[in-house]
Amino acid sequence: MRPYDEALAQLLSDVGSVATAQNATENVSLFDAVGRVLAEDLCSPINVPPKDNSAMDGYALRLQGANAQGQWQVVATRLAGDASELTVNPGEAVRIMTGAEVPDGADTVIMQEDINRDGDVISLNSANGVDDHRVAENIRPVGNDIKEGRVIVSQGTKIDASHLGLIASVGIDQVCVFRRPIVAVISTGDELIEPGSALPAGAIYNSNRYFLLPMLQKLGCEIIDYGTLKDDQALFEKTFKEAADKADFVITTGGVSVGDADYVKPVLEALGNIDFWKVAIKPGKPFACGRLTKDESQQAGYLLGLPGNPVSAIVTFMLLARPAIQQFSGQAVEPLAFLPARVTQDVRKRPGRMDFQRAHYEMGEDGRIHVTPFNSQSSGVLSSIAECNCFMVLDREQGAIDAGAKVKILPFREWL
Ligand code: AMP
Ligand code: MG
Repeated sequence: MRPYDEALAQLLSDVGSVATAQNATENVSLFDAVGRVLAEDLCSPINVPPKDNSAMDGYALRLQGANAQGQWQVVATRLAGDASELTVNPGEAVRIMTGAEVPDGADTVIMQEDINRDGDVISLNSANGVDDHRVAENIRPVGNDIKEGRVIVSQGTKIDASHLGLIASVGIDQVCVFRRPIVAVISTGDELIEPGSALPAGAIYNSNRYFLLPMLQKLGCEIIDYGTLKDDQALFEKTFKEAADKADFVITTGGVSVGDADYVKPVLEALGNIDFWKVAIKPGKPFACGRLTKDESQQAGYLLGLPGNPVSAIVTFMLLARPAIQQFSGQAVEPLAFLPARVTQDVRKRPGRMDFQRAHYEMGEDGRIHVTPFNSQSSGVLSSIAECNCFMVLDREQGAIDAGAKVKILPFREWL
């Protein structure tokens, strides 16, 4: 059995990245850029803010050299958006609003709460007058947020709402992104039917298709949905070939083990350079991967053959398929973001496989994270995923552990 880290490293080196392909990029407008992967370093063409501006409603004035009691004559008012010529001389002040450009000659903004105003004359209301203030206070200096020319979002970033705001803040309305990975999804199994009709004897509803499609969508993929194939060798062969011609990845579920109707395996062996792995993770053991062609053409899709069992399928998708697709899409693959936690009960485990137990974590009153494994760890129980928020991850050689022991957890809900 392959250790998980080794399996993942091999997979990532096999699948490559769209970044090195031809016609890999396109220009999109801002709202279409969310969820896409940036294909270039994005530099700011301007300073943000473009000029010194006020962080407060108050008075812009020259504090440097002011007399000790601090008194100024109010000569004008300045609202945000007003960029008219205005100079403040020593002893003068300008009423200024948040976001308005600081007029020439002023070095400080005193917030209005610190001011006494009598007609057009203002003075400081603090005990020590000028000594309680500092030159340049309440001024947001030019370029304080972003300096002109600085990289604001780097290549390989998956653009989210915060990036969009940042990009907009420097005036850019179009960005260059990598094209979406194209992923074909194929369910296999004579026993599968779609939800919406009554269940015939011997049948089960197809559930894999219903979590794979939205997870792929969330990853930013373009999806070709092949629905369910009956266990028929000729049909598999025809469909897999067609899918591999159209897609970057072909994801199948079921048929990769050694049962009598597991035709995926013989078809894949005939069609391409496919490896059949037993990955040392629980749940999830059987996994197939490789190029769906014998002629080394880089055009053909890469096959990811997930187990049929829904829990095994979702776990292998999260731990192997997801990072592979992420990397292909041009993103840097984040290492798994484990958190430390204390387990609330004794846990059974035999050494041999890395265990991804479905579990629920929460912050305890002691400020630590506490994790409780779901009561059924059977790989047939899909509700264990739906009702949990993390994997409790136990290393391969780890044996049973006692309540209170320190463990690693891996939150997964944001992937779903
Ligand atoms: P297989 O590897 O094809 O033998 O499938 C293993 C188990 O997973 C069997 O019990 C199948 O009925 C079940 N299974 C396979 N595909 C799906 C699916 N798309 N949805 C739900 N269960 C499935
Ligand atoms: Mg099957």
